Amino acid sequence: MKDVQVDVLIIGAGPSGCVAAAYLKKQGVNVKVIEKSVFPRFVIGESLLPRCMDHFEEVDLLDCLIAQNFEVKTGARFIKGDTICEFDFGEKYTEGYDWTWQAPRADFDYALTEELKRKGVDIAFKQEVISVEFNKDGSSQTTVKADNDETFEVHAKFIIDSSGYGRVLPRLLNLDKPSTIPEHSSIFSHVQELERPAGTEGTFITFDVLDTDTWFWVIPFSNGNTSIGFVGKTDFINSFEGTPEERLSEMLKESSYYYERFKDVDFLFEPKIIQNYSKSVTQLYGKGYALTGNSAEFLDPVFSSGVTFATESGLKAAKLITKELQNESVDWEKEYAEFMKKGVSVFASYVKEWYTGNLQTIFFEGTDNPDIKRQICAVLAGYVWDETNPFVKNHDRLIKTVANIIHLNKRASKD
Ligand code: FAD
Repeated sequence: MKDVQVDVLIIGAGPSGCVAAAYLKKQGVNVKVIEKSVFPRFVIGESLLPRCMDHFEEVDLLDCLIAQNFEVKTGARFIKGDTICEFDFGEKYTEGYDWTWQAPRADFDYALTEELKRKGVDIAFKQEVISVEFNKDGSSQTTVKADNDETFEVHAKFIIDSSGYGRVLPRLLNLDKPSTIPEHSSIFSHVQELERPAGTEGTFITFDVLDTDTWFWVIPFSNGNTSIGFVGKTDFINSFEGTPEERLSEMLKESSYYYERFKDVDFLFEPKIIQNYSKSVTQLYGKGYALTGNSAEFLDPVFSSGVTFATESGLKAAKLITKELQNESVDWEKEYAEFMKKGVSVFASYVKEWYTGNLQTIFFEGTDNPDIKRQICAVLAGYVWDETNPFVKNHDRLIKTVANIIHLNKRASKD
């Protein structure tokens, strides 16, 4: 195969790469996407946040998604024992989208790539990036292996690494660093529901909290299938024995709310297990490249922030690269790394405080304060850059403080 010369090479055609590619194409930038799989392909990450709708809209990818009739998600439900805490995105502090989707990612990502092709984006499947060499000026030579095992080079001025769990540049450049999020693992599959409960009970996305570290997700899709999965400490997930089917079936007994609904369903594929899924990197960019989406950072699935960070970072990187290609100066540290870290650190506090139990205290024992609920709801919708929201601005202190007040009030009412 022939070597290619482009302005921007994007590695990976998940939501991060697709949003970046759509933006660059719209700006007339010469961009190429290299994707190692054949789409549609399975990937986990099926519950989205309203914030990512802004990104799809900005790069003209919203209509192709609307046409798929995915299940609309207007909020989220958390259950612990007999207590139910519901968030409605229509009642959130920050202005913005009040809905999004819960969607099988194979179909979702396929719709995005089909639309990219329709827009004329050069996107190649079954081609894998195997090595990258950077020149002093940041330009690069990337070696790509095609499915016939032949290799060719892509010469690019910039690389956006959107390779998700492939983590191409973090691996090649040794950028991995341990995440500060406590280690958890997950086991999940899809099931076909022939008799789904009527109304929102059947379609609402739910997180059934079994104990402070362990929870079960139920994400119903509009095609009649439902994604189910457990998250827990790695030791807990590994304590179940047998085949993946046997392990997930046995775990289902832990959910008293959902056991009856799912006890007889067949798994549509052998349950998949992802161990210690949280990832981080030492740097988000370097001369000639930016890491976006999961290639950069993944926290935890509990608040469904993965795809939203993937699209936020993909779009941001594409905008900054466009500026640089137009000979405008870009402060990557400030405009990219600090910006992304600000949003990530808000969600990181929520994830950490989820697993300390403080956030669960607020959800299950204290969300009757409507202002607090609206402010937390805006965070759960992905609007984590709105510093007028006290639950964004003071994310590292406020959850602890409110949980402490709830504990003190409970103690006082007992005395
Ligand atoms: P991906 O969607 O992973 O796409 C990366 C692409 O790069 C892939 O298609 C891959 O084939 C390609 N690629 C990899 N290596 C190479 C290579 N060498 N050459 C060429 N191409 C390559 N997020 C949510 O928003 N909501 C959820 O409900 C949610 N649930 C989750 C549950 C679990 C258990 C886990 C672990 C994660 C969950 N996530 C969720 C996170 C979500 O999966 C990711 O954040 C999201 O898919 C990231 O998108 P991306 O575009 O960065 O990467």
